[in-house]
Amino acid sequence: TATTTARDTQVFDLIAKEQHRQESGIELIASENFVSPAVMEAAGSVLTNKYAEGLPGKRYYGGCEVVDQIEQIAIDRAKELFGATWANVQPHSGANANMAVFLACLQPGDTILGFDLSHGGHLTHGSPVNISGKYFRPTFYGVERETGVINYDVVEETARRERPKLMICGASAYSRDWDYARLRAIADEVGALLLADVSHPAGLIAKGLLNDPLDHAHIVTTTTHKTLRGTRGGLILMRNDFENPFGIKTPKGETRLMSSLLDSGVFPGTQGGPLEHIIAAKAVAFGEALTEDFYEYVLQVRENAQAMAKAFLSRGYEIISGGTDNHLMLIDLRSKGLTGKLAENTLIKADITINKNMVPFDDKSPMVTSGMRVGTAAMTTRGLKESDMEQIVVYIDRVLMHHDDAATIATVKEEINEWMKAFPLFKS
Ligand code: PLP
Repeated sequence: TATTTARDTQVFDLIAKEQHRQESGIELIASENFVSPAVMEAAGSVLTNKYAEGLPGKRYYGGCEVVDQIEQIAIDRAKELFGATWANVQPHSGANANMAVFLACLQPGDTILGFDLSHGGHLTHGSPVNISGKYFRPTFYGVERETGVINYDVVEETARRERPKLMICGASAYSRDWDYARLRAIADEVGALLLADVSHPAGLIAKGLLNDPLDHAHIVTTTTHKTLRGTRGGLILMRNDFENPFGIKTPKGETRLMSSLLDSGVFPGTQGGPLEHIIAAKAVAFGEALTEDFYEYVLQVRENAQAMAKAFLSRGYEIISGGTDNHLMLIDLRSKGLTGKLAENTLIKADITINKNMVPFDDKSPMVTSGMRVGTAAMTTRGLKESDMEQIVVYIDRVLMHHDDAATIATVKEEINEWMKAFPLFKS
């Protein structure tokens, strides 16, 4: 048809190819998920045409009457979902949400205390290659070598020694819950603000399956596309401390509400026009997350993660901290004589996607690593249950134990492609 010939086939053929890849394989990247058709429809809508700098009702552009209503729905739903009293739904990503917080709360050179990247933390929490590590003085806490778990006494000692202005908790590869109350007590003791970046477990937190950071952290940031199952994006939340308990001042010397400082930290501080199509998609995703179905979903995500952890342990794989409280786990492959790089590159040949990951106290480089990170959010969306997790581990084990055997890997791939036909991405 005319429409098809007018299409940019070079790009759209590749999009179709990527859809096929997503549909035919097993997706275990812990930070990924599959959004609903409604979320995709909003993200691909005419809202992409609209400039709307500012906030609902206070824009720098005309014609914002409709997007104002949409953004307000996103804000209201985010607040309801997390029991927050304030939300900013504009950050383009998790990294942008964190950057806006830093700009609002810190001066260049201030000390920050985050969870070590090589122990499961995130780049934006002070890594030397990220602006957070370049513009501020980063210090870190990590997990204990013996247990793989954070020792809060050590966090307290570190905080007393380093006197951070901002403490950050939250991670990309930590399978245990966080003691936010203890962290807030430490922050109060040293006069620091506490930021909880719950990007990974946000969906489980929203439905009460994990400790609630909003009661304790001054500020909470999250991505919207992991266990929350929304479009790619970021979100900033507060429940109690929007009045600026620290008297943080603007560059002009004004003391404003924390909420107002954070709004300015997003725009004009670190972003220009908000992506209203993405904000609409966030609104749709938050609406989905408010349902009872989503509670059943995150419950299944956690049950699947526990079933998967058990299956790995029973085959002699070593899981950092011995198990999981959330949707992911970090596996130390050294006991199997494998590297993360080899595991990632071999499993992809069988259409199983995982990512290589540093393990705490890793002796290999970040490009090689000794570990792999796996999560259950995406495959749970596709409808897989506990017994399927067992089957996935059987496949992973078979591929890794035969990583030189192309025929075995090809057979596993065929079986997986056939199996996945029963779990379509889009149910008609
Ligand atoms: N914070 C944490 C804890 C994350 O795991 C991630 C993403 O992996 C981010 C922030 C950054 O999010 P984005 O990739 O959307 O910038």
